Amino acid sequence: LKKAILEGSLTLFYQPIIDLKTGELYSLESLVRWFHPELGFLPPSKFLPIAEETTLIVELGYWVLKTACHQLYQWHEKKLISQNVSINVNVAGKQFETVDFLSQIFDCIGETKLSPSNLRIEVTETIISQHPTSITKILKQIQDSGVKIAIDDFGTGYSSLARMRNFPVNQIKIDKAFVKALNTHSKNVKFLQGIITLCHTLDLEVVCEGIETKTQNKILTSLNCNYGQGFLFAKPMSASDFELWIKQK
Ligand code: C2E
Ligand code: MG
Ligand code: MG
Repeated sequence: LKKAILEGSLTLFYQPIIDLKTGELYSLESLVRWFHPELGFLPPSKFLPIAEETTLIVELGYWVLKTACHQLYQWHEKKLISQNVSINVNVAGKQFETVDFLSQIFDCIGETKLSPSNLRIEVTETIISQHPTSITKILKQIQDSGVKIAIDDFGTGYSSLARMRNFPVNQIKIDKAFVKALNTHSKNVKFLQGIITLCHTLDLEVVCEGIETKTQNKILTSLNCNYGQGFLFAKPMSASDFELWIKQK
């Protein structure tokens, strides 16, 4: 993995996040992949846990951040996407523990001349609940710089509503498990309605992850969910496949 980072066999895929009202592209989520010389194409579940056990995740995370910002800037420059389209970058807990995490973020923005609001850091509820105080402080500094914060996989961790109230956050990404459950019981629709209403009351954007069917899309749009991500719109794509996808859109 160390070699892979140095030699460039890691790559980023990009998955569109769509404005459910207009159908327009709102943001892209960067998702790391590894083309392993012997094992072939590896999804993050096959190597991120190992990276997270060591400090390799810090190096990997910095590479992801830089690559994603540079890629977004290039697409803005080429006018392939509107200047408002942002990038969501996943961040691991250990990255918050490194002293230069903030400067890494600011360097990436500075180098690429992206507007800070074009970058959104995704942090899971689990990470937040593991280090609530220190992370809140760092996230506050990130948010003060204009960079946005999203809570990923919302609903699967243990973040309390009280914490959410005081937390520096701009976007809530509701986990795909809740979207999947929409098909099974009307209570699940009400549950999602409640979360979406709460988020809007707190001025938070809502993204639903894992939208696979037109029915799910219809229900979520009727619940005023702002944005959606899932195979219905597009799977995560290589940079070149994304360029083809956006040209056809
Ligand atoms: P995530 O951040 O929640 O990313 C969404 C995952 O859901 C992606 O899996 C994506 O391919 C998958 N997905 C998207 N739409 C659908 C759908 O409609 N149905 C289903 N069943 N799945 C869908 P992926 O790419 O395998 O990534 C898994 C996780 O690995 C991510 O979950 C994220 O937590 C982590 N990850 C990925 N890239 C990075 C990275 O650069 N850094 C860090 N720290 N974690 C990353
Ligand atoms: Mg994510
Ligand atoms: Mg997620």
